[in-house]
This record gives sequence, C-alpha cells and structure tokens, in this order.
Amino acid sequence: MGENTRIIFEELCPNCGGSIDDIKLKTIGVCGECLPTPAYNLSSSNIAEALRRTKKLRGYRIIAEVEEFMEKFREIFTKSTGFKPWALQEVWARRVFLKENFTLNRKILVTLVVPQDYSFPSILVVLNSSNL
Ligand SMILES: [Zn+2]
Repeated sequence: MGENTRIIFEELCPNCGGSIDDIKLKTIGVCGECLPTPAYNLSSSNIAEALRRTKKLRGYRIIAEVEEFMEKFREIFTKSTGFKPWALQEVWARRVFLKENFTLNRKILVTLVVPQDYSFPSILVVLNSSNL
C-alpha cells in the first residue's frame, strides 16, 4: 500500500478480483499481487504483456483487447475522417467490440456486427417493432 492510498476496494482488481487501492486502480489498473513492481505509465498492452510473462493474466485480458481495438478504431477513424472520434463515438465503438446492442431511443435498436478480424465494424439499425 502506497503512502498516498486513500481507499482500498475489496474484490475489485479487474485482473484477479482481489483488493486494489485507488492509486493502483487509477495509475496501473491492477493490484500489487498481480503486478508487484510498480510500473507506471505503461500502456494496457504493456501491462497485459507483463501479466502474461508472469502467468498472471486473467480478467485484464479483455481490458487489453478493448484498448487495442480502441487504438485501431481511433487510428482508422482519424485517417478516414480527418477528425478524432468524439467520446460518444468511442463509447459506441467500445460497445461494438463488446458486441453489445443498444437502443438509441425507444424505437430504434442498433445491432452491432464486428468481423472476426477486427476490421471496421458495420452497424445494423432496425426499428424496434415492439415499441412502435
Ligand atoms: Zn490483482
């Protein structure tokens, strides 16, 4: 536990499900059991790699995969449009990756289709007949 620790979250390490303090959660994202040596300023893929090396990569795998996808999304989006994606567009892209459907409003259901190779996802918009 670092001297600046203010809060300890029980069972909230996203990797092992153990306790994690607020500083570690904010800066590294995994607890001291998972990554004993503080390694600040690491990208999520670096952290996943460090966990993989020590055979401790568990729940963090999906976080690293999402972040990897988001980096590709930002790159493709910026290259295609000349603009960086808005926060809402990033939220949608994240949902696409996680294959979540979501409702824009009561009448429109958006179904997201992601190709296996993580190429650019397509979006299927259908009218939600139950709410028409
Ligand atoms: Zn942990």
